[in-house]
Amino acid sequence: MDHTSYIEINKTAYKQNIQFIRNQVGEKTIISSVVKGNAYGHGIENIVTIAESNGIRHFSTFSTDEAVRVFNASTKGSQIMIMGMLDEESLPWIIERGIGFYVFEFGRLKAAIEVAKQLDKQARVHIEVETGFHRTGFEWEERETLLKRIEKSRDHLELQGLCTHYAGAESVANYVRVKSQITKYLEYKAWFEENGVIFETYHTACSAASLSYPETIMDMVRIGIAQYGFWPSQETYMANFKQLDADMKNPLKRLISWKSSIMSIKKVKMGSFIGYGNSYMASRNMTIALVPIGYSHGFSRNLSNLGKVLIDGKILPVVGTVTMNTISVDISDLSTPKKGDEVVIIGKQKRNEITVASFGESTQQVNYELLTRLPADIPRRVK
Ligand SMILES: *Cc1c(COP(=O)(O)O)cnc(C)c1O
Repeated sequence: MDHTSYIEINKTAYKQNIQFIRNQVGEKTIISSVVKGNAYGHGIENIVTIAESNGIRHFSTFSTDEAVRVFNASTKGSQIMIMGMLDEESLPWIIERGIGFYVFEFGRLKAAIEVAKQLDKQARVHIEVETGFHRTGFEWEERETLLKRIEKSRDHLELQGLCTHYAGAESVANYVRVKSQITKYLEYKAWFEENGVIFETYHTACSAASLSYPETIMDMVRIGIAQYGFWPSQETYMANFKQLDADMKNPLKRLISWKSSIMSIKKVKMGSFIGYGNSYMASRNMTIALVPIGYSHGFSRNLSNLGKVLIDGKILPVVGTVTMNTISVDISDLSTPKKGDEVVIIGKQKRNEITVASFGESTQQVNYELLTRLPADIPRRVK
């Protein structure tokens, strides 16, 4: 093993998640697999392969570099859509390959039209409109100008989508704001229609919106966190709980497990301090395992004296401070610990499990952040 830990990705779990999402959104809706942030830490290439083998043919990225990776990994000619950052210099590459992209300002629209003209192609654009998220999107007041520019260059534009994004569909605290965004979006849609502009797809929903606001499920949904087996929030889960089958109370299955092994074992006398400083003093004669993962591998320093790992099926505490490359684990209660024994940081071992949520809770990180912070160079093994 050249690396100190590895991440396992479970294909079967992915299949189940997609089935559940498919049930929620219906047969006709396109599921776009959102793979930004290195596919939420799972590895873009892994997820593109697994998703395509489950019938997914649409991927959404934040930026061009991610789109390049999807493009290279795809073997089924899937459609790719860039939702965020792109440099104008990348437009020829993007437009040449028929990659779709968000347009939320006139500068990008102009550049896209120019490049499309030069290439004698159509730019596949998704017009993003401002409905209340206040991040990106054309303003309501800009619609006339937008319409004119679109009509003028109609030959060089493929109007793939009209889209928006909700400001927190995972929490009921945002209910009024999300509802008013839906209304606003429908106003744009109707206005464009009245003016003879029809888009190929209307899409607004992320995982949380798809699960909590069925009216946001349109021609396409953009699903990130749910395909990786996580509810967008505890609240979204609770809101869906009643409708879930009694024998399948959690249909979303985690894909990821994170594992390492014991690097060395040491006996420590009662009263000794373990690791840097004095944050942990042995309260008895102890046996300590050193595990070669630390904050440089995504195991937050905030988990010092708080984190838990599984060894031999038992939940065991991290003692002392998390260092750059190691943690110390109290294994005094194990009967025959050995160097090389498997250590589970996230996942199941025998009858116990450490979930991403429990791991995240102690550091106040939400699933999204914890997953995307897993370094890209930890090997991923698909199984
Ligand atoms: C990240 C993102 C999504 C997916 O969000 P999830 O909550 O992970 O489903 C959808 N749309 C946009 C614009 C996004 O940035």
